[in-house]
Amino acid sequence: MSLPRIPLSEPHLVGNAERYLAECVQTNFVSSVGPFVERFEREIAEFVGAGYAVACSSGTAAIHLAMRALDVGVGDEVFVSSFTFVASANPVVYQGATPVLVDSERRTWNADPELIIEELERRARLGKKQPKAVEMVHVLGQPADMPELVRTCDRYGVTLIEDAAEALGATDTTSGPPRHVGTVGRIGCYSFNGNKIMTCGGGGMVVTPDETIARRAKHLSTQARIPGRAYDHDDVGYNYRLTNTAAALGVAQLEQLAAFIDAKRAIARRYDEAFADNPALTRPPRVPGLDATYWLYSLLLETRAMRDRVLDALAAQSIEARPLWTPLHAMAPYRHASLLGDGSVADDIAARGLSLPSSSGLTPIDQRRVIAEVLKWTT
Ligand SMILES: *Cc1c(COP(=O)(O)O)cnc(C)c1O
Repeated sequence: MSLPRIPLSEPHLVGNAERYLAECVQTNFVSSVGPFVERFEREIAEFVGAGYAVACSSGTAAIHLAMRALDVGVGDEVFVSSFTFVASANPVVYQGATPVLVDSERRTWNADPELIIEELERRARLGKKQPKAVEMVHVLGQPADMPELVRTCDRYGVTLIEDAAEALGATDTTSGPPRHVGTVGRIGCYSFNGNKIMTCGGGGMVVTPDETIARRAKHLSTQARIPGRAYDHDDVGYNYRLTNTAAALGVAQLEQLAAFIDAKRAIARRYDEAFADNPALTRPPRVPGLDATYWLYSLLLETRAMRDRVLDALAAQSIEARPLWTPLHAMAPYRHASLLGDGSVADDIAARGLSLPSSSGLTPIDQRRVIAEVLKWTT
């Protein structure tokens, strides 16, 4: 008899999910009108400490709205991490703008801020055009190192966008009181896809301290329709609205978010302890002050061959694990993009990295099964 499957990261639908969804059905507010959307926006803004929050249909839509709200377009460049899920960069291309990829740093696995700072300073010295925006991604729940980058971007008038799709709840305490990822730059984007730390089924959110940007993002997400009786539109917008049912689930999940974060951190601690003495395993970043949520607990193995062997062994035991992303600079749509750094850090993380089951509902018994299997193939 085969053992039950252990998923990588599955929704954890506890608390008021059923109650709020039933409320949508009972009141007939299942689509784009209804009280949960505004409530969800208000509560996310409160949770992360953002001035404004605009709900939308996905994390990708949130990033696209950020690009549109900042007028990123043809002839503009946007710096973005090469080591990320492809949705970080696609909206740059939707806008006809040019992505410039950035290699990772070992300390956080995120885009190396030094490479970006050097390039902005180099361009300033030469009087060359600066990028329209820098999009920092907080991969796998690990906050990127931002403070120096924020100062440099400010100095050169470059807007900072955060793709915090994987890192909702992670904070930066390196320069004072905790700041949530997504609230450090001009615009932050979250995702509520099914595998993220909390889910709406599918959904996203834009947060910003800037009322004008928030209004513009909301307007564009609702087909840029001018309020009133006539169907009149003053721009080319999108149907990027979040439904009331999705928002209802989001509100219920947000009530659990602190518990989900605690659970993910406890899971990471147990993995860290189990793998501490194994020289074949490099554990994920732990950077004082950049407090990760460990959305997907990820390890680097000694070699690509060992990584692949472990993935095969886990799959054979119905344990869902997966390799880390192919860097954008190595995949067809982005192969010709410029790259800051030589890409070797991202290549190495991608070649040797894998993510282990990290659902907030993962039981210690199931986690022991995962740990035993990893240790079996690496010691
Ligand atoms: C999930 C994710 C997105 C996109 O979010 P969706 O809700 O799936 O559209 C964007 N960026 C990163 C880094 C992600 O992990």
